[in-house]
Amino acid sequence: MKAIDIRNKYLKFFEKHNHKIIAGASLVPANDSSVLFTPAGMHPLTPYLLGEKHPEGTRVANYQKCVRTIDIDEVGDSHHLTCFEMMGNWSLGDYFKEESIKMSFDFLTQDLNLPIEKIFVTCFEGDSDCPKDEESANIWRQAGIPENHIYFFNKKENWWGPVGNTGPCGACTEIFYDTGKEKCNANCNPSCGCGKFIEIWNNVFMEFNKKEDGTYEELAQKNVDTGLGLERAAMTFQGKDNVFEIEIFKPIMDRLAAATKLTQGDRIIADQSHRIIADHLKAAMLLIVDGVTPSNIDQGYVLRRIIRRFIRHMRKAEIDVEILESLINEYIEVLEEMYPELVKRKTMILEVLLAEKKKFMKTLVNGEKEFNKAIIRIKEQNNEILDGETVFRLYETYGFPPEITEELAQEQGIKINMENFEKLYKEHQEKSRARS
Ligand code: ATP
Ligand code: MG
Repeated sequence: MKAIDIRNKYLKFFEKHNHKIIAGASLVPANDSSVLFTPAGMHPLTPYLLGEKHPEGTRVANYQKCVRTIDIDEVGDSHHLTCFEMMGNWSLGDYFKEESIKMSFDFLTQDLNLPIEKIFVTCFEGDSDCPKDEESANIWRQAGIPENHIYFFNKKENWWGPVGNTGPCGACTEIFYDTGKEKCNANCNPSCGCGKFIEIWNNVFMEFNKKEDGTYEELAQKNVDTGLGLERAAMTFQGKDNVFEIEIFKPIMDRLAAATKLTQGDRIIADQSHRIIADHLKAAMLLIVDGVTPSNIDQGYVLRRIIRRFIRHMRKAEIDVEILESLINEYIEVLEEMYPELVKRKTMILEVLLAEKKKFMKTLVNGEKEFNKAIIRIKEQNNEILDGETVFRLYETYGFPPEITEELAQEQGIKINMENFEKLYKEHQEKSRARS
């Protein structure tokens, strides 16, 4: 089953269970300055989770494009993307743990044919504030999950919220897929990030209200908020151990593998870069569709960083950047069924991306030269930190976002003086403000 079929199956399944299917929101949240991008399916539903009445009732479900810049450095592992799709179902004071867990279990085992042997779950272990979530564990046991597939963890792993200091919060139960890889060590379990166990679905049970004095009281309206990652779900169904093998990335990954001039020995470096390029290019296209254009502030700056980063990785993997245009055309064809909006905005996507590429390429080669000179200097001085002045010059003159300089430096075992960069950056901003 392709990702789009899984998306459709999910919506059908929850429709059958009396959920109203609602539209996903834009990647750029409307009237909300708390985040730059929609990070989860629940984000646009916050007012309803806090008690406002939803016009569609107490059971809703949808799919939602998400961007998590916080995961940008994880991209390259088997299961993190900066841009992914989250499917979600919500109970707004309607069903709670039992029905929620049973529906998740049925969808995975029946609709997605996931064998029980491959499913691991985690529950909240309890602490002085709130009791152990035996209720969820018992529901899993009754569903047929064996005892040695049920793990208990503390608040760090199995607890959600509150968003600020007070408000709704509660235990969550997470569902993991066992990729079948070897355990990385004897204690390897679902909380380990090695890639043997991959989280696919998180069911949050908003059960408590955290009060000013730090104590917890039971909520009058208990909600359920779940998120199932589409790419990860497709990966499990297709029997792959990483998301880049599924059909929405594979053609692009193959194209990049054919285009790299790196030889066998450097293939690991190339593969890592291909994943970053495939993820970032898709993120950039979907952000442009939602109205973001490259700039030096806010969403536009993140988009600029993402574009410049994947271009840098094209060069790192020795891929001719001139293939970008045909790569975009091919990618849009691959994604067309899932995101028809890409086809409608194709001209704009090409215009924005090619213009940004041109801008960056003009200075990239010289910037890299400048960077290499600086690194030689640093190494000769037996120094391990690249000064803020150089980082700032690379930004100002060559358009290197500091994160790119940091990444380049990291590859040489050098750190950068971000603090000093930020100081210079602020001074520069103040000066230009005074001028204008
Ligand atoms: P992880 O620990 O793997 O980073 P998470 O705890 O951050 O996951 P949640 O915030 O609970 O994930 O999001 C719900 C679901 O969304 C996850 O179970 C997963 O399937 C999916 N998801 C989250 N982050 C990513 C990502 N960076 N790339 C792809 N899918 C993701
Ligand atoms: Mg995460």
